[in-house]
Formats: sequence, structure tokens, C-alpha cells
Amino acid sequence: MPDQARRPLVAANWKMQKTRAEARAFAGSFVDGAAELDAIDVVLCPPATALAELGGTVSTTAIEVAAQNMHEAESGAFTGELSAAMLVEAGAWGVVLGHSERRQLFGETDAALAAKVPAALAAGLVPILCVGETEAERDAEATNAVLARQIEADLAGVDPGALGPLVVAYEPIWAIGTGRNATPKQAQDAIAHIRGELAKHDPEAAAGIRILYGGSVKPANAAEIMQEPDVDGALVGGASLDPEDFLEICKAAQRAAGGR
Ligand code: PEP
Repeated sequence: MPDQARRPLVAANWKMQKTRAEARAFAGSFVDGAAELDAIDVVLCPPATALAELGGTVSTTAIEVAAQNMHEAESGAFTGELSAAMLVEAGAWGVVLGHSERRQLFGETDAALAAKVPAALAAGLVPILCVGETEAERDAEATNAVLARQIEADLAGVDPGALGPLVVAYEPIWAIGTGRNATPKQAQDAIAHIRGELAKHDPEAAAGIRILYGGSVKPANAAEIMQEPDVDGALVGGASLDPEDFLEICKAAQRAAGGR
């Protein structure tokens, strides 16, 4: 039985897609339908250039905006990077950290995440920490070990007691952008395992931390995945670019929330 404190959350990760004008157009098509989503939280993660404007556009709704990356330092000679304070100033509610594309394409390390997660929390940003295994690791039955290692390393800089606002996204790398989603049982098993690992860090907080599933979530598969007891919502890439598809996924989360 899921914890009632874990209000479902559906987040749209637009990656390097949508100009400010396109983000505005998305909001124009999405917000009316989203008004009925009173049992879930909805977060849009646009490119940094659209963050402030999109945040302003949805400011009269319950929708929040989040960034896709952040540097751990307060300021300094880090060309191209953005600090937590800059994201807060731009209106961000949270920040996606450790997405597999950042880990694989841009060399994001667990050591950097161990600094980024507490820096985000200290600034009042909700970290949406992404973890997940490669296909080879799953085939080698190393999924649980990989998830345990990532959770331990990425949260190493967070004081027990400070973990409460954290959101985790279980994103098996083989499911991201491939059209091949994890089965509901695979998602449930991995997320339950992650919750157990979080409990080693902070037993009290772990029961209330929202853990999302991400990886080829679509309107057609959202409901069955989000019915699983430990799945507290979804982080959606490709299908979040279309306001109608994303609304359908949010509605599936809203219906699943009704069953909780
Ligand atoms: C993602 O990039 O976080 C993601 C889950 O992408 P997709 O939904 O396209 O698999």
C-alpha cells in the first residue's frame, strides 16, 4: 500500500528541445486540460533559455518548472554552467540531476552528483535524481547492485534528515528513447529496491520519497506502470513534447492516484 504522503508527480523532460516560443505554445495547449489534475504534481523541465518565461506563463496554475542540470558551486569560473541560485532566480522549483544523457555524453560523475544534490537541497530546489542500469548490467543481473551503488554515491553528501524533498527517477538506460519501456513488474521491483537503499540513508524519509519511472512512457503504457504500488509517477521524455500525449499521461497518473 503506497504512502499517502507520496503525491504522484509527472515531469516532462524536454531535453534540448523547444524554443521559448515553442514552450509558450505548449503551455497554451496544455494548461486548460491540466486544470483538472488536482491529485498529482506536474513539472515541466524546459531548456534553461525557456525556464523563466515558461515559469511565468504557468505561474497562475499548479504547474512547476524545473531545470535539467546545475553546477554544484555557488559561482566561479565554470563557463557554460548555471548555479542553484541562478535557477531559483529564474523560477525553478527543482532540477533534474544525473540524467543518463549527462552521465554518458557529458561525463557527469557520481562524485559531482554527491556535491550537486546537497547544493540543490540547500538552495531550496527539489533534486530529481536519475539512476538506472544499462542493458548489459541488467543482462548480467547487476541492476540492484548498480542502483544501490548510485544511490549511495550520489547521496553521500546529503545529511540524514535533509533528504525529505528529494525525488528519484528510476530510468533504465535501455528504455530511454528506445520505445522499449520496462514492464510494470521491472519498474516496481527496481523502485522498491531503490526505496530500500534510500532507507539505509534515511529510514524515516525513505517511505515518503517519491520515486518515478522513466523510459519510453507513453499514453498507451502509462496507466499500467503507474498502478504499481511503489511507482509514484513518471519522468517523460519524447512523449512529453506533445501537449496532448503528455496530458494523457498525466491523466493516467491522476486516475492511478484515485486508486491510492
Ligand atoms: C528521459 O529522457 O528522461 C526519458 C525518460 O525519455 P523517453 O521518455 O523519451 O524515453
